[in-house]
Amino acid sequence: MKTLADFNFKNKKALIRVDFNVPLDENFKVTDATRIEAAKPTIDKILADGGSVILMSHLGRPKGIQEEFSLKHIVAKASEVLGIEVKFASDCIGEVAEQAASNLKAGEVLLLENLRFYKEEEAGDVDFSKKLASLGDIYVNDAFGTAHRAHASTTIIAQFFPESKCFGTLLAKEIESLNKVLKNSEKPVTAVLGGSKVSSKITVIENILDKVDHMIIGGGMTFTFVKALGGKIGNSICEDDKQELALEILRLAKEKNVQIHLPVDVVAANAFSNDAEIQIIDVDKIPDGWQGLDAGPKSLEIIKKVILESKTILWNGPLGVFEMENFANGTIQLGNFIAESTQNGAFSLVGGGDSVAAVKQFGLEPKMSYVSTGGGAMLEMLEGRILPGIAAVLS
Ligand code: AMP
Repeated sequence: MKTLADFNFKNKKALIRVDFNVPLDENFKVTDATRIEAAKPTIDKILADGGSVILMSHLGRPKGIQEEFSLKHIVAKASEVLGIEVKFASDCIGEVAEQAASNLKAGEVLLLENLRFYKEEEAGDVDFSKKLASLGDIYVNDAFGTAHRAHASTTIIAQFFPESKCFGTLLAKEIESLNKVLKNSEKPVTAVLGGSKVSSKITVIENILDKVDHMIIGGGMTFTFVKALGGKIGNSICEDDKQELALEILRLAKEKNVQIHLPVDVVAANAFSNDAEIQIIDVDKIPDGWQGLDAGPKSLEIIKKVILESKTILWNGPLGVFEMENFANGTIQLGNFIAESTQNGAFSLVGGGDSVAAVKQFGLEPKMSYVSTGGGAMLEMLEGRILPGIAAVLS
């Protein structure tokens, strides 16, 4: 796996695919610069070597050229975060881009206009990729959030740099963290899978059953399993057509010697509302009219024990409806247990959508070993797929 360390960028133009798809307010001001900050280590290393940097990104989902999706809106913020004046090219290919790229001197940074102003970007068009490729000497992919897409700038372009392509710091860290969990993991390995539905996580569950010793199942997914096992789940969320599948997962887990931990009790409510009446009740005895919305105290005790004994932990999906204060406790406690285990030496990876949001919301991010930056991309990696953007740099 080639990384920045394999190249000396002195007097070279690095063409970097970054993910600067940042949120903007109604005045086109960047409201969260996390993704720009995440690309800084890569940019810094190339500049420190004496190279120059050409940044390629998409912003939103424009239909053709639409001013509101112009990357010019983020130039000021990018300059502030990177601590250097970022130049801007009002097109990502053609004369404007070529001029700007050829005028670029060592130590300078150029941001190209939104790649998705061309439909060729998402179509993975080869000619468009070639035009982009002509702008730089070395291709660096540092955009994990789009690594699962075979777009021009994330995948197709790599073929024009047979010997001179590598992963940026961020993408390398994502790959390394996932390998620490799924390939070179220290046992016992525990996966916590929560969230709303079995159906959206089924491929992840199937893939990681081969890699883990414990699987903690929580969140809305719980109730499809509990109902399939003959429990009474009241009005809890359930996918009736996935009950067979749930039983099959339990059977497979037994065969593979994976211990499955389902909640034994829940915080149930008489409505899907933060103001609803609440009772703590066994997971398989929920009365009609009530629904399980968070893990109960006995379940959390069991989870705590498993997590504190684990040496490798993967967390995907919340244990309850954490968006509502009264049902956030399970998710917060789980985060605290993982933080404690991490402090005791375990490796913890949080990835895929809502658990990342939860970890950030509850200030737990610095206490995890690694928090992934790509929702969809991380889920696809957990499903065991080889992402096109990663494969293209490896080939
Ligand atoms: P996912 O996108 O599949 O990871 O699901 C995340 C969503 O699952 C969050 O918005 C949670 O509010 C929701 N969720 C977690 N537990 C439950 C539950 N017991 N009942 C309904 N929704 C839940």
